[in-house]
Amino acid sequence: MESNRTPEGQWLDGYSAEELFKRGKGITYKDFLILPGYIDFSPQEVTLETRVSRNIALKTPVLSSPMDTVTESNMAIALALLGGMGIIHANSTIEEQARHVEKVKRYENGFIRDPVVLSPNHTIAAIDEIKEKYGFSGIPITEDGTLKSKLVGIVTNRDIDLEKNHDIKLSEVMTTGLITAKEGVTLSEANQILRTSKKGKLPIIDKEGRLVALMSRTDLIKNKDYPLSSKDKEKKLLVGAAVSTHPEDRTRIEALVEKGLDLLVIDSAQGFSSYQIELIKELKRIYPQVDIMAGNVVTMEQASALIKAGADALRIGMGPGSICITQDTMASGRSQATAVYYSARIAREQNIPVVADGGITNIGDITKGLAIGGSAVMMGSLLAGTREAPGEYFYENGVRLKKYRGMASLEAMESRGGAKRYNTEDQKIKVAQGVSGAVVDKGSVFEFLPYLMQGVRHAFQDMGCRDVPTLHERMVSGKLRFEPRSLAAQMQGGVHSLYSFKKPIIGAD
Ligand code: GDP
Ligand code: 5GP
Repeated sequence: MESNRTPEGQWLDGYSAEELFKRGKGITYKDFLILPGYIDFSPQEVTLETRVSRNIALKTPVLSSPMDTVTESNMAIALALLGGMGIIHANSTIEEQARHVEKVKRYENGFIRDPVVLSPNHTIAAIDEIKEKYGFSGIPITEDGTLKSKLVGIVTNRDIDLEKNHDIKLSEVMTTGLITAKEGVTLSEANQILRTSKKGKLPIIDKEGRLVALMSRTDLIKNKDYPLSSKDKEKKLLVGAAVSTHPEDRTRIEALVEKGLDLLVIDSAQGFSSYQIELIKELKRIYPQVDIMAGNVVTMEQASALIKAGADALRIGMGPGSICITQDTMASGRSQATAVYYSARIAREQNIPVVADGGITNIGDITKGLAIGGSAVMMGSLLAGTREAPGEYFYENGVRLKKYRGMASLEAMESRGGAKRYNTEDQKIKVAQGVSGAVVDKGSVFEFLPYLMQGVRHAFQDMGCRDVPTLHERMVSGKLRFEPRSLAAQMQGGVHSLYSFKKPIIGAD
């Protein structure tokens, strides 16, 4: 046994990550376990803060897949409030995708520097339209209905909720004599005024009384309720969106950047291509302020090429997705844990984070994706059954379900963007690389994600790691020990020998 000790005398069971993945066959999450470490802290002391791209840090290491049954603005808002980030799918018109990005960026603010403004001559009907489009109805009124014009009043819900005639001019219903703050006020001073004034809105005006910004009381409340939320410098929620490498998507990219998106995800099933490398270089030149997540890749050569082109993050996975049939149909791909380990290994040398995309089925898979070098995980099926995912619930055999489909399923390819990701859009004969199906109801993301993250915190405690950087450090140095497990061990690790049991929503398949 002496040979199983380090020079410092530490016992070394199992294998280092390097030894585990060198053993031959491609493996995935279920094929190995992590040996426990030493616990001297509680799960509550674990922080899951991470980086998902060169310049974007999140408190929750979770992204949602850019799929039309997973991520639109509702999902992206929920994830960002909980510390993760949503990637809006591109299976829609440019306008639709840009509107989802805008909804996320407008959801929460510090100073609203481009508030929607109306004039006294507009009618209540104009407020109805704004409410319908953006979801808010507290509208400052300026002399000529534009920002930088003299503030004359404000219309809020209370001014109009009992008014039956919506053709009335706003000059007749608006509230005047407002509490305002002067341009130059700091965010915390303005917050204090909002607190003490007990008003819903605080207009900020310049010396001449012209409107320059707006603040909303609900943002103070959101800030208090969601301490982990992912925000940019202006206190707006972070959001990403998927785009393809196709030339006509340049207009899409321009529209998304204009709405202020934070992360552009180049959505290709096989990202090692001249199209993608050229696009990354072009985007870094035109939009240096926007981080680019490139992919998907699974080998060191692919990863290294995209990083060299300028990628700020990599998305790892070719074929592990729950709806995916790429590996069997196309013969290319890689077992997911092996893919994450090797891509992360190369990316780490350049300080570029990688995201383990696809095949995440439970808390253990999230933990393992992080433990082998992933900085975050991207999930489709686990989030698809939640209330915030697009689509309605339906029942089958008495079970409440939501639709979930691969973006390369025939069904998704027949509608707009799915085919682009898989380079089949111009072809008459389409070969599907995904299926469409259904997943069970998982309730709201606001309960489901905190549950998953509490589980991950417990898992970190078991490994004896307080945070993601420590986990990665210990994995690289060989201190974190792994062990492959036999099929019999996998079966024993699951529920067994019972006549019946109550199946949890996730984690017992
Ligand atoms: P309202 O009272 O109907 O305006 O709605 P709330 O105060 O409940 O919510 C307004 C939310 O929308 C806040 O989080 C604002 O930051 C956000 N928001 C984003 N852009 C604007 C805007 O142009 N005007 C207003 N009123 N709110 C905005
Ligand atoms: P899941 O979390 O459901 O296991 O996997 C989601 C991931 O599968 C997505 O983020 C995306 O990378 C991938 N994906 C989505 N649609 C398809 C598809 O139709 N075919 C393939 N091969 N992969 C897909």
